[in-house]
Amino acid sequence: MFLDGVGIGSSDPGRNPIAAAKPRLLRYAAGDGEALPLEGRWCPTDAGLRVPGLPQSATGQTSLFSGVNAARLVGRHWPGFPTKPMRQLLEEASLFRRLRRVGKEVAFANAFSPSFFSQRPRLVSATTAMTESAGVPLRTFNDLRAGRALYMDFTNRRLRRRSYDVPELGPKEAAAQLVRLAGSYDLTLYEYFLTDLVAHRGSFEDAVTLVRELDEFLLAAAERAGEAGISLLISSDHGNLEDASSRMHTGNPVGTAVWGAFAEKLPLIKDLTDVTPLIETYLTEGGLAAKPAEGPAGRGPAILPRPRLGRREYRSDEGEHRVVPYRGRP
Ligand SMILES: [Zn+2]
Repeated sequence: MFLDGVGIGSSDPGRNPIAAAKPRLLRYAAGDGEALPLEGRWCPTDAGLRVPGLPQSATGQTSLFSGVNAARLVGRHWPGFPTKPMRQLLEEASLFRRLRRVGKEVAFANAFSPSFFSQRPRLVSATTAMTESAGVPLRTFNDLRAGRALYMDFTNRRLRRRSYDVPELGPKEAAAQLVRLAGSYDLTLYEYFLTDLVAHRGSFEDAVTLVRELDEFLLAAAERAGEAGISLLISSDHGNLEDASSRMHTGNPVGTAVWGAFAEKLPLIKDLTDVTPLIETYLTEGGLAAKPAEGPAGRGPAILPRPRLGRREYRSDEGEHRVVPYRGRP
């Protein structure tokens, strides 16, 4: 899972809304030295990429999903959506591309709205670019209704408010739906970016509420994945949510947390560029069973969230990947 904009912050509940929410799973982002539930392990992961300035979404996500330092490639941290050199990098070397080349089946679990397909945005996120360039289908609201996808809020509440005929899912139901889907693929990615959005635009209380529900979802996903023999990996692209003293991204490391057999690779993760090569190695070196059949017996790491940053961040309010200028500070 890719969680956008979740770095490792302090344990101060007045400054870190993650600490204020007292999460069980996301405690690693709140300066909490306690062990993670369900035998999860985590490590700090550098998001600065040895380039000056605050880390940003396009370069952070492209680095995370390609294993190549995209900030070095373009000479700076770049916000929002990837530019052409980054899209080309993803086309050639993304996690999805690498796995497809060796016959692995991958899925991007996020559901895209009809307007994404009818009014194609000029720029798309790193995950969308990776999915499309690897020839992996984008999921639709029909997939969502059939239980083969999750919306970006995982509850569908935002869609129901807009009168879409989709069921409301509790955090546990949503987690079960995601893990069921992951059982049919070698690797399934889910991207959650409300973490970065609420950090840029929301109140402290909004952030605490969001973290509580997200934590419930993640905990249920870790439980279900463990029962199904599926490894779960959670990482991010840059810090933001963990420090409410600023609405900008932070220079904090992000956390990479893992459950299941993939945990053996965790000590090798030092920065964002380590994640994709290690998943590729793990899946191709026989750390898992061969390509799983469709059905709940399959196994594979489900990557869950992603991060975001900075100056002019382009982000869709409703996950439709429309290009909207970020109106917050700076
Ligand atoms: Zn951001």
